[in-house]
Amino acid sequence: MIATIDNIKGMLNTLKISHSASALEKILELSNEKGLSYEKFLENLLEHEIKSRSEKKIEQRLKQALFPEYKTIDEFDLAEQQSLSRRQLNQLLEFTWIEQGFNLIMLGPPGVGKTHLAIGLGIHAIHSGYKVIFTTMNDLIYYLKTQEILRSAQTRLKRITEADLVIIDDLMFMAMEKHEANLFFQLINKLYGQTSIIITSNKGPEDWGELLGDPAITTAILDRIVHKCEVINLCGDSYRLKYRTSIFGKN
Ligand code: ADP
Ligand code: MG
Repeated sequence: MIATIDNIKGMLNTLKISHSASALEKILELSNEKGLSYEKFLENLLEHEIKSRSEKKIEQRLKQALFPEYKTIDEFDLAEQQSLSRRQLNQLLEFTWIEQGFNLIMLGPPGVGKTHLAIGLGIHAIHSGYKVIFTTMNDLIYYLKTQEILRSAQTRLKRITEADLVIIDDLMFMAMEKHEANLFFQLINKLYGQTSIIITSNKGPEDWGELLGDPAITTAILDRIVHKCEVINLCGDSYRLKYRTSIFGKN
């Protein structure tokens, strides 16, 4: 009997049905205990394989997304953020906007939850089957500038162009050189129509021109981003400041 089980495990592994291979004994034992039929046993085994594969895929995609922190939507307190209603958030979580190729621009001063919300949506999107990648604008420009010489930058950019959703955090934190703005335009052009983008920024699109340097490039970038786009204005006091830990007591 042990030889047979080992043999089955070996064959499952050869066929790359590895989750079933490692769970075979346990599922067999359970089936025996419950006196399940062959059909029920096989069904349980296959269900286990499918569930494990999908869990592994999600785990992998969460890793590849390169979120700087794990911030979920559940941890996002909507009562603190009056500018987004529960209904709007639920609509965002349905991800029809990704299907339809919409972009999101999240605006607001520092500390109001732009990055948190973007990451939370990204995590949800992965659980809904989408490929997501997070990058800061700074890193993105670095990848674009070094793609000719660095394999790692090339890989990163490939992941970005293959994603369903790209989160670009803190757009325009620094002024760009024309060459950089051009590279950024080329990337946006590549993503246009196939990938949704979430951009967070503390400056509205009306100010992007001066930061991108070149008016023609700015217009071209804006055209593509704003064509199908929802702007979410997050306002209110900085959550960081409001809930900061203090060295003084509360009274
Ligand atoms: P921003 O990107 O707008 O500067 P962050 O998303 O980095 O702000 O938020 C700053 C900190 O405050 C983070 O730790 C974040 O988790 C928290 N935070 C902001 N808004 C909320 C909110 N509505 N509910 C829970 N935590 C929040
Ligand atoms: Mg931020």
